Amino acid sequence: MTRTFELLDSLPTQKDNKFLPPVADFETDFVACTTIESKQPYSEFIGDLNKSESDVREYRLIRLPNGMTAMVIHDATESKACAAMDVNVGSLADPPLYQGLAHFCEHLLFMGTSKYPKENEYSSYLSAHGGSSNAYTDLEDTCYYFDVTYDALEGALDRFSQFFIDPLFAPDCTDREVKAVDSEHKKNIQSDMWRQYQIEKELSSPNHPFSLFATGNYDTLSGSAKEQSVDLRAELLKFHAKYYSADIMKLVVVGRDSLDQLTEWTVAKFSPILSKGMTKPMFKGHPLTEKELGRIIRLKTVRQQRTLELTFSLPDIKPFYVLKPGRYLGSLLGHEGKGSVLSYLKKRGWATGVIAGRATTSAEGFDMFKITVHLTESGMEHYEDAIRAVFAYIQLLLAKGPQRWYQEELCRVSEIEYRFMEKLNAVNLAMNLANTMQQKYLPPGKILPDSLLVADFNEELLEWVQGFLNPQNFRILLAAHEMIDVEFDKEEKYYGCKYRVDAIPAELMRDLRAELVFEELNLPGPNQFIPDNLAVKATEKAEEPAKEPELLRMTEGLELWFKQDDRFLLPRGNIQVKIETPRAYDSPLNAIFNQLFVLILNDILAEVTYDAQVAGLWFNVSETISGLSLQIDGFNDKLPQLLRILLETVKSFAVDDTQFETYSREVRKKLENAKHAEPYNHVQTNTQYLNQGTMWRYTDKQAVFGLVTKERLQVFVDTLFEQARVQMLVLGNFSEAEALAAADIVMTTMDTLPLPEYARRPARALLHNFGSYVHHEAMPDEANLNSSVDVSVYVGQTEDHEERVLMDLLLLIVQEPFFDQLRTKEQLGYLTYCTGRKYSGGPMSLRCIVQSESNPAYVTQRIAHFIRGFRLRLLEMTQEQFDKYANSLKVRLEEKLKNIFEEASQFWKHMGSGYYEFDKIDFDLAVLAGLRKEDVLRFWDMYVDPERACSVKLLTMTIWSAKIFRPSVAELAMYPEIVIALHGCFLRDGAKRLTLEDVQEFVAALKDFKAAAAGTEAGTATETTTETATETATETATEAATEAEVLQRVVELFKRTADESLSEEDLVKAVAKISEPASYVRTALAMALESPPAAAAAAGSSAAGGSAKCNGGNGAAVAIGGDLANLGAVRTPGGSWAFEEASKYKSTLCLSGAPIPVRPLKPKYE
Ligand SMILES: [Zn+2]
Repeated sequence: MTRTFELLDSLPTQKDNKFLPPVADFETDFVACTTIESKQPYSEFIGDLNKSESDVREYRLIRLPNGMTAMVIHDATESKACAAMDVNVGSLADPPLYQGLAHFCEHLLFMGTSKYPKENEYSSYLSAHGGSSNAYTDLEDTCYYFDVTYDALEGALDRFSQFFIDPLFAPDCTDREVKAVDSEHKKNIQSDMWRQYQIEKELSSPNHPFSLFATGNYDTLSGSAKEQSVDLRAELLKFHAKYYSADIMKLVVVGRDSLDQLTEWTVAKFSPILSKGMTKPMFKGHPLTEKELGRIIRLKTVRQQRTLELTFSLPDIKPFYVLKPGRYLGSLLGHEGKGSVLSYLKKRGWATGVIAGRATTSAEGFDMFKITVHLTESGMEHYEDAIRAVFAYIQLLLAKGPQRWYQEELCRVSEIEYRFMEKLNAVNLAMNLANTMQQKYLPPGKILPDSLLVADFNEELLEWVQGFLNPQNFRILLAAHEMIDVEFDKEEKYYGCKYRVDAIPAELMRDLRAELVFEELNLPGPNQFIPDNLAVKATEKAEEPAKEPELLRMTEGLELWFKQDDRFLLPRGNIQVKIETPRAYDSPLNAIFNQLFVLILNDILAEVTYDAQVAGLWFNVSETISGLSLQIDGFNDKLPQLLRILLETVKSFAVDDTQFETYSREVRKKLENAKHAEPYNHVQTNTQYLNQGTMWRYTDKQAVFGLVTKERLQVFVDTLFEQARVQMLVLGNFSEAEALAAADIVMTTMDTLPLPEYARRPARALLHNFGSYVHHEAMPDEANLNSSVDVSVYVGQTEDHEERVLMDLLLLIVQEPFFDQLRTKEQLGYLTYCTGRKYSGGPMSLRCIVQSESNPAYVTQRIAHFIRGFRLRLLEMTQEQFDKYANSLKVRLEEKLKNIFEEASQFWKHMGSGYYEFDKIDFDLAVLAGLRKEDVLRFWDMYVDPERACSVKLLTMTIWSAKIFRPSVAELAMYPEIVIALHGCFLRDGAKRLTLEDVQEFVAALKDFKAAAAGTEAGTATETTTETATETATETATEAATEAEVLQRVVELFKRTADESLSEEDLVKAVAKISEPASYVRTALAMALESPPAAAAAAGSSAAGGSAKCNGGNGAAVAIGGDLANLGAVRTPGGSWAFEEASKYKSTLCLSGAPIPVRPLKPKYE
């Protein structure tokens, strides 16, 4: 039975609701124009866009003849250009029979258009020009965006615009990309956020499309199409034809070119998009009706967590853009100061956080307001009391009525924020604006200020909105891993999440309707942190801003750097403080204490500093492996005051029972949750573990958790700062005297003894040996379907100027082809990417990361295969292509800093690395200018190419899903990697009774057969024998016959060993699947047949294997190898060392020295 949803035929107006502003007018104040070059018509808005006075960008709002609205933005300093297109259609418009279609359509638009048919044309163009792209599908928006070097914008726009004009939806892409959507869904299955969202959707009104499943998976797309005997591609074409219409598209283009030029391109390239004259669908009704409200939903989470969420049904309040009633209510209900709900709950040890505001899950016609409480264990028992407290506060708000002074404070802060706005990242700006422009009631002049400005006070409207927060109009969601005495009687279809639904207990409802008086609850007082002095010290922007801060003081106890802002000229500042103390991380137990200390510290700070955050000040107190880090940023006027409060709180720290109870459980919960991280997180953590000198894993901490007591924590904190070293940076609208004064605040408040240089514990990298090392580990969360692989190839030294630039360049070149091959073509998994890592004081690595349902042995082989083949691409790279990459890197290096925070972060990074290389960018640019394409190949051959590199250092981390077969250590030693990989592929497709031995024999027999057929002797076939042009037709025919025979044998083997429970029909399907030319089984088999015999491989010719042809390093590796065997590692037939205990292997590695500064550190004041 097909579900249909009722549509609204027109937008609500003041007749429906007296508070509604008029629908935005996009006709008046638009004048007809023609583009300068091609004389094409468009219209331009000539009214005031109300841009912030500190905004240096220039804006032009235009309308194309096809009805599309676009904002073109000129920014003379932007090194990247970008664009975002928001199409006002999303998952709400999915046909109920094909849930996820809008999302699927989003994936497919990237896969070729009539004008640019090549599947990866768009992404390879962008990557060759230093760009990237992405998209997201929301309830009623699908937004596509990209960035690219400023000089390549036109080409990118041309490719991009074709998405909306004539996409191909090539049949084979359509089939393959369903797998990417399916993999994306599988990545989300164990995510509590996604599970909860789907439960909320499922338990909303069936008459509203909000109740559909938005992401889609194989079953809701391909599966459903097969069931309906419908071509999924045809549905896709229908969807695109219906909804991808110019009248519901909003485009934003940002570039360095003039407004006229940007207008020219926009009009020329986007005017051909058809307008189908159909505005987007608006649905009648609300997802939360009487039937859904008044319920309590209990659900079981994957992770250890306890959340209470109250969701109120609201009418659409987005049209009230001037007043922003959601912000007013959210700011009061989510307040953390004295008298707030959170303060009340924390005092009782029931909660650690409250968040309140308009829900992000809203669309035109409806809103929801959510109050989310993070409960503690004891809060879980008192969740009803927590609800009573929230309602008591709501009653207080109703009784006191809307607070004019509070709204005026919000207005004042928002005005200051807008007036002294910092530059937004261009892509974010484009995405946000494109989305904002979809709001039907927002007039042109309010588009730019919309994200920040609050204005006005309208008591009647606020009262009306407040009125919806009542007991008749909400439902409760309670989510936890454990719930005592709760029987979950339902299971959600797509995620398998267990839950139950009941009416809210009558007694609780009665209480909520009665008068609730809580003496402790009170409205907040006036905010002390709103800046008074907004004067800017520097009067003129420096032509060439200083590239480094000045070192004011340098002693054993204090290192102080300072720079007065000469770049942005805003009344803003940033202060960074690191308090180094070696005890903070010297054992797993101390690491826990430090973590606990910082959590409780933040809890104490919340009450005093919430106002600071409301007033536009930001701070972060965090624990690091060297101690404690404090960062504060915002309007400079009150920053020193905030700094003093933070430090005094550190110094006077005293833990009470409730806090200790709450947060020690919190830390234990975090440690327990660590195992539920996604496989790709696990492999990366494991990689970090084997590259960072000191690092405690969650298991190390769990082992000592029993020793954590309140008394010990207090002693730890009391003595933590006895000896410490402060590293500090003061940047922004400050004078030198103010910087010295800030340092005085730190030194006098902390009152510590200096820390001798040799007692410091800077981060150190581990140095790996030549050869190939593989770590195998089982995925600790046994329900996760995915496995993951992280391959690190070590490539040179971080300190080497040339090598580090080559590494950056190489990454630019390799990323897109890697993604295109392993994700798009082979569909190994949604998360597939290449990245780089530079270890301070140590090596650099090129990393290939894949999260996949395929077995890690296979994925590793595919990565190795990609690496082997990539040399040819480097060899074939033309000078022109190389120049594009080099230019991309240059543009990236030259990227201008956007705000004080970015500038501070950059200085801070150079201070933290220990190199103090403030002029790194200049160095890198100089090196880059001298590089040629041969240098990249040389670099590749030196470190990466398995055939040519003197010695490869390779570290492969693998995590195996508990759902798949993982070879034992003995099997790793006995069977070649490719046999294990092939075996895993067979198993994945259903050959349940197949053993590794079967596969080994099968491959050997096939090799003999192929060799005989080719007329050569068995075993001597070499890897890539290029066919010559003289190849005769007979040879081709023989080959085809051989191939057919090989396939025949594969199918036989599969049938012999297939899962006995497979139905005849499923067996036929499985055989068809493995018979496909690019099936995992056939790909693995092809690699197995190409591979040299095991004996030869062990001598070092396998890509994954350690090979050493010209370096004494190999001797060392062999010597160390002997020891490794005694530590439980095994030598695989491919020549790698495989180990299961990471800590033992780690103990054999040497530590790098601390980095040496590239400059003498001479302070201005002794
Ligand atoms: Zn997606």
